[in-house]
Amino acid sequence: LVAYIIGEFDYVETMANPTVPADAKPIKIRVYTLKGESSQGTYSAEVTARVLEYFSEYFNIPYPLPKMDLIAIPDFEFGAMENWGLVTFRTAALLFDENKSSASNKERVCTTVAHELAHQWFGNLVTIHWWSELWLNEGFATFVGTLATDHLYPDWKIFTSFVDEDLQSALTLDSLRSSHSVQVEINKATEVDQIFDQISYEKGASVIRMLNACLGEQKFMDGVRIYLKRHMYGNTVTKDLWKALSESSGIDVEKLMGSWIKDVGYPVVTVEDFKQENNEATITLSQKRFISSGGMTPEEEAKYATWWIPLGITTHASPDKPLDIILTDKKQTITIPYPEGEHQFFKLNFNENGMYRVKYPKEVLNTIGEVIKIGLEDKSKEIISVCDRIGIVGDIFALARNGTEQTDNALDLLQYFEKETDYNVLSQIYTNIQELKSCWYYKEGRVSEALKKIIHKIFSPLAEKYGFEASPNDSFIDSKMRAFAISSAASSDDKKIIDELIRRLELYIQGDENILNPNLRKTAYTAALRNTTGEKAEKLYDGILNIYQTNEIADQRLVALQSLGSVKDSKLVQRTLENALNPSLVRLQDVMYSIIYLTIGNPNPRETRPITWHWLVDNWSTFEERYKTVGSILGALFKYSTYDSCDSKYIKEIEDWVKELGPRLDIIRRTVDQSIEALKEQNAWVELDNECVQAWANKYLA
Ligand SMILES: [Zn+2]
Repeated sequence: LVAYIIGEFDYVETMANPTVPADAKPIKIRVYTLKGESSQGTYSAEVTARVLEYFSEYFNIPYPLPKMDLIAIPDFEFGAMENWGLVTFRTAALLFDENKSSASNKERVCTTVAHELAHQWFGNLVTIHWWSELWLNEGFATFVGTLATDHLYPDWKIFTSFVDEDLQSALTLDSLRSSHSVQVEINKATEVDQIFDQISYEKGASVIRMLNACLGEQKFMDGVRIYLKRHMYGNTVTKDLWKALSESSGIDVEKLMGSWIKDVGYPVVTVEDFKQENNEATITLSQKRFISSGGMTPEEEAKYATWWIPLGITTHASPDKPLDIILTDKKQTITIPYPEGEHQFFKLNFNENGMYRVKYPKEVLNTIGEVIKIGLEDKSKEIISVCDRIGIVGDIFALARNGTEQTDNALDLLQYFEKETDYNVLSQIYTNIQELKSCWYYKEGRVSEALKKIIHKIFSPLAEKYGFEASPNDSFIDSKMRAFAISSAASSDDKKIIDELIRRLELYIQGDENILNPNLRKTAYTAALRNTTGEKAEKLYDGILNIYQTNEIADQRLVALQSLGSVKDSKLVQRTLENALNPSLVRLQDVMYSIIYLTIGNPNPRETRPITWHWLVDNWSTFEERYKTVGSILGALFKYSTYDSCDSKYIKEIEDWVKELGPRLDIIRRTVDQSIEALKEQNAWVELDNECVQAWANKYLA
């Protein structure tokens, strides 16, 4: 990958001084920006220096060029592109201002830069043989990019975020029948664009993380070093990496990893039976592919792989040293030490290292819940880790969605988490509740009200505790937590919080820079637009639109733009959609962001979802004309315009339209198929569990 760029730019400069390996040389680093913006490049230049030093040591191969340039491009299709020695970025993925940008933007810049720099080894120094191996580039860069971020900022707990976000998003997409295997056959150019997705990136990274945990960090790193050294300036296939890792570990890695890479999907491990006797437990386990819409026939089941699954079993007797047992058959019975004692439990998939889901019998799950609860009430008794807690929540809701569990059981399980304070566990809980609320939008009843009550109960006290003002003693997580608590409380209709956000926003719009800290701005914009109508809403809308057009910080412009979709007022819904079509107002690269909140998190989804969908249909020819071969943006437009519109009458409309357009949609075929399958899955979920969820809501509100 080579890039040349000509234009007038400013830059900041620094040096990386790698000391390992011995022949590593200093590297000159420059971050280029548009004129006048270079001070916003200081942070990413610093990150680049530290990450290059880290990778030089981790891979034990020096970065081969004397310079590394990074440049912010105002209009750019991808997030970033790893051209050798000249990496291009969307502006908001590279530039950061310590006083004016948000904490989440800092995280985005660091992880994106680390990902692109990883490609200088994985991608540029050693290059894949063909697109079918894309995951080797993207999955690997995502994993080691996360490693580098963790190395730079251990307090960010970035791997916990990985489990909460990346792993869960891979599990979600890969539970569709229309998913694809990690290693995938590619015959046409239009197919290439479509595999830059959560399978190549997040699933790829998740299975690498699983392998790293299995082999151990040292042996894994040694194998990676062998691979890179052996294939420098050459081309590779996946097998080459397995071979090197087998050499370093003495384990047949190809046998272990085969099904995870070559077969579509991943398994759900079911605890079929559990018996305790003479200080031992006998557990019968089975595995089959996890499909989000359920309903697999035995014939279909037989089509899918049998996975090699590291079980990572922890118990009350060994809570942090998992038993290394591998499930290799469809069904298997194992025996583990299980002494009689207080608060007994066992849990599979330690730290959520494996990319699979687990279904427990209700009584086993409740014992885990009890132990979690005890640990949350008394920190000295916390023996189930944060990642494990995220997994428990993520799994039960996924199982509810595919009909294996009842949704009210999933909701009841949350009682064990009442004292939860960890950012990522709360984020997992919040995400699942919001998703439930979002899918139930077309049903009458009190579900939304009950779910808001849960959110209110968890987040309003936290919002109260953190307050609106940043403190100089805030950790990075504190900054994120404040924004998260306040935005969640606002989404639960906490009037006090909403009024305060609007009050501060009005002053901020009038020019009081300090009244609204950068982490709270998005929350203030969305809360204001979700909760106002008429003249007041219009005035706030104009203010936020003006921030979008004039703010000098890219990530702040972006959140202002996104927020404009949160509108409740129907006149403003039209304005947002008109703006999206006006290229002098919304850049071509950002159109999908400008409409996403019309479907997700909008206060009035029954109206805004069909309006957004019809807008897409009416303007599709324009988009085709504009984006031509840029499938990633067309795909995002389709996905966001139909998001969670799972009322069957819209699904039918969407399907009819897709049929009518036929091959014109080939460029985004995967996204179309996956979106429609996801909508049908959501519809089936709502229809199946509506009765029990309504009953749960009435009981909860009583
Ligand atoms: Zn990449």
